[in-house]
Amino acid sequence: MIPFNKPYLHGRELVYIAQAVASGKISGDGMFTKKCHDYFEANYGFKKALLTTSCTDALEMAAILLNIQPGDEVIIPSFTFVSTANAFVLRGAKIIFADCCEDNPNIDPEEVERLVTNQTKAIVVVHYAGVACDMDRINEIAQAKGIPVIEDAAQAIDSFYKGRPLGSIGVMAAFSFHETKNIISGEGGLLSINDESLINRAEIIREKGTNRSSFFRGEVDKYGWVDIGSSFLPSDIIAAYLYAQLEVKDLIQNKRMHIWKSYMHEFQSLSKTTGIKLPKTPAWATNNAHMFYLITNNIEQRTHLIDQLKNKGINAVFHYQSLHKSPYFRSKNDDGRELPNSDRFTNCLVRLPLYYEMSDTDINSVISGVQDALIY
Ligand SMILES: *Cc1c(COP(=O)(O)O)cnc(C)c1O
Repeated sequence: MIPFNKPYLHGRELVYIAQAVASGKISGDGMFTKKCHDYFEANYGFKKALLTTSCTDALEMAAILLNIQPGDEVIIPSFTFVSTANAFVLRGAKIIFADCCEDNPNIDPEEVERLVTNQTKAIVVVHYAGVACDMDRINEIAQAKGIPVIEDAAQAIDSFYKGRPLGSIGVMAAFSFHETKNIISGEGGLLSINDESLINRAEIIREKGTNRSSFFRGEVDKYGWVDIGSSFLPSDIIAAYLYAQLEVKDLIQNKRMHIWKSYMHEFQSLSKTTGIKLPKTPAWATNNAHMFYLITNNIEQRTHLIDQLKNKGINAVFHYQSLHKSPYFRSKNDDGRELPNSDRFTNCLVRLPLYYEMSDTDINSVISGVQDALIY
């Protein structure tokens, strides 16, 4: 069996978890959480890094920090994970779904420009497969109206836009360390904050609406309830696991890149003969090897490919289902707009196995499995 994904344990994870326990403090903001915060701020230039229990949590914090109110419009790509939209729906926002680009699943900036109104309170972009959206164009549209841009950088660790780390460009960004991402802690996330004026309140929201962080720094003599919030901070056990992964980030990234490039190289001629499309990395973006996907010519071909691979014990999977066609959204405020690119990626995108422990034999099995299924 070749699974789609397999969580990777380097070894120091268990050592650091034991250290966290031995330190006598395994609740939030312990020794390893601080190490992770320092790592992200030093390596990616985030003004403030705050670990959360998930990317979903980080997005919910962002929505609270932006003071999203009932009826506010938030522009979000339809081809994304539920949490990107749900975090804003929890604040009462009206979601305005935008289509993808024609040739890659990132949000189409021209579509964003058409959808902006005086009610727009945020634009959320998703760097799909860790490949940067067209951030200069999106920032130009947003800045003209003073609208904050949030990056859903769940898949985008260690990836760059014109040399700038993803997660450092929007006012805030949300990362995920879910076991399906490049760097993992089981469940886990990060809110990066690039607008200094949001930092103080972010600490409060993350600590159940209390000024506990200020109290521990000795800035106030008692702590109490000062704002809304929730319990968004992870246990130091999670941070211990994460820190061990960050220490071997380059090892993990190099291996993932090797797998990604092997696929890309071997599928060039297949793409020419079958019309199957390969991932595109625009000139402004890097590729962090989060995902390798193919775009089939139609849904029947994708189903055939997934079934054929399954017969050989290879687990390839499709991805998001357009949120504008989801049961929840349809029952609420479906505005009837068609988003054809989003639907095409919903129907035709297929992701191939890609995980640290994949051997060259595994990689070759997937490659020949795909070729056998598509050349007939
Ligand atoms: C994985 C993912 C999320 C959710 O991350 P969690 O850490 O599981 O909450 C959100 N958005 C995108 C684009 C993702 O890929």
